[in-house]
Amino acid sequence: MNISKNSSEYMIHQQDDLYYLSFLSFDRTKAVNHGFSTRLGGYSKDIYTSLNLGLRSGDKLEDVYLNYKKICKALDIDSEDLVHSDQIHESHIYCVTQEDKGKGFYKDSNIKGIDGLITNEPKVPLITFYADCVPLYFLDPVQKVIGLAHAGWRGTVLKIAAKMIHKFTSVYKSDPKNILVGIGPSIGSCCFEVDESVAHAFQKQFEGDDWIQTLKNGKYKIDLWKVNQQILLESDIIEEHISIMGLCTMCHKDIFFSHRGHKGRRGSLGAIMELRD
Ligand SMILES: [Zn+2]
Repeated sequence: MNISKNSSEYMIHQQDDLYYLSFLSFDRTKAVNHGFSTRLGGYSKDIYTSLNLGLRSGDKLEDVYLNYKKICKALDIDSEDLVHSDQIHESHIYCVTQEDKGKGFYKDSNIKGIDGLITNEPKVPLITFYADCVPLYFLDPVQKVIGLAHAGWRGTVLKIAAKMIHKFTSVYKSDPKNILVGIGPSIGSCCFEVDESVAHAFQKQFEGDDWIQTLKNGKYKIDLWKVNQQILLESDIIEEHISIMGLCTMCHKDIFFSHRGHKGRRGSLGAIMELRD
């Protein structure tokens, strides 16, 4: 893998040809099983090579099923229990319970139009999907609550990160001072070039300019990691509790699926997490 193996934020896990990443801050709590998948070590072919977790990507479902089995075995999670989001680039959040186990793949799901999942029940694994958008992981090790949110540029502008923290505090009585957040691999500021309309959507919502760069061609580059960090700090998350992997999916499209990098012809990566017993 052509990414740093000596990060203070993440660890690379390898089992045979399978690779996935975890946040060191989350591992240290011993409260969760979690990981972010790479495209390496799966069964899918062609544009889906090889660990595609996208169920509606056009890939062969038998291969996707085997991919789920393989990554979940490595994470010590039962793939049949996974609760799937149904992301629409909005900021709606669903509170998951035991009754939702298996919804999305093995069971029909009423979880529709949801970009954020939260649960405080152990052994109820959550999964959200990515190929350039920002994966956000949340863990309150005191109240024992976990969450995952899909923050593309739209979700970031809609401040889904702040809405997740609000749910943690209002529904689960979390103190923001205890919450750990992880920002996983996504398109980085090196590659996330946008036009004026998108840049203005950000400028309307966010202060400062350390997250935006004006380019000579009249376009802009935006740092989604920094913007999400700003939102989290405004939600009273402690800076040292925010881990940023700093890995760009487009720069590393040999390791990750990248919607822009592969011009839309790609599989999906998964953010997976469950509370331990
Ligand atoms: Zn990049």
